[in-house]
Amino acid sequence: MGTVSDNLRHIHQQIALACEKSARDPGQVRLVAVSKTKPASAVLEALAGGQRLFGENRVQEARDKIPLVAAGQGGEDAQWHLIGPLQRNKVKEAVQLFSLVHSVDSTALAEALSKRAVKPRPLPVLIQVNVGREPQKKGFMPEQVQEAIEQMASLDGIRIRGLMTVPPVVAEAEEARPYFRALAQLAHTLEGVGIQGVEMAELSMGMSHDYPVAVEEGATLVRVGSALFGARTSPL
Ligand SMILES: *Cc1c(COP(=O)(O)O)cnc(C)c1O
Repeated sequence: MGTVSDNLRHIHQQIALACEKSARDPGQVRLVAVSKTKPASAVLEALAGGQRLFGENRVQEARDKIPLVAAGQGGEDAQWHLIGPLQRNKVKEAVQLFSLVHSVDSTALAEALSKRAVKPRPLPVLIQVNVGREPQKKGFMPEQVQEAIEQMASLDGIRIRGLMTVPPVVAEAEEARPYFRALAQLAHTLEGVGIQGVEMAELSMGMSHDYPVAVEEGATLVRVGSALFGARTSPL
């Protein structure tokens, strides 16, 4: 494991390579540096290396870390995305901390976000899809997504900007490709349906072990933690 700056450079090279392979513009892919379980100092190191966008999966941890980062060198430049499950009682805080919620996994959560959103600025959200149809995973089943989005589309205060998935754990990155492709195809289909007020501009997919494959399949947001900050000791 190199330094955070070295890792950052390597990840950007891998993203550029994947874009070259798939004839995509690297400007269309944003790296979300997943800093969960890592201290504010690690975030500040990444900021010093040019990274601006960070992902956290727990409101409580983010609430503690964000002010520490903001007080550090360059810390005000950090932007924060929520990538993990959101409990109803944390919604109010979440809308204040995060500029994008990747993990809307129920219409009830969308309604709660809508009620708490800070008007007039709508909160961008992504709809989480369980592409691998795993019983223990969060997200809508692929065949439920259209109806759910049609229900959520008219909610004030939130704006649906795309889809997100966490595919099944596989041994080889290549084995994740069909799941990424399925999410991209679903987004394409929904775009074709044309639901008022809904955009399919973002595809949040790909993690440390498979983000290059996700980029080849159209990811616009890759969520990379351990490949950037090193392995996590707690199993989050
Ligand atoms: C932890 C986490 C990641 C990052 O995982 P790595 O394998 O460390 O890159 C990405 N997405 C979600 C939803 C996560 O919870």
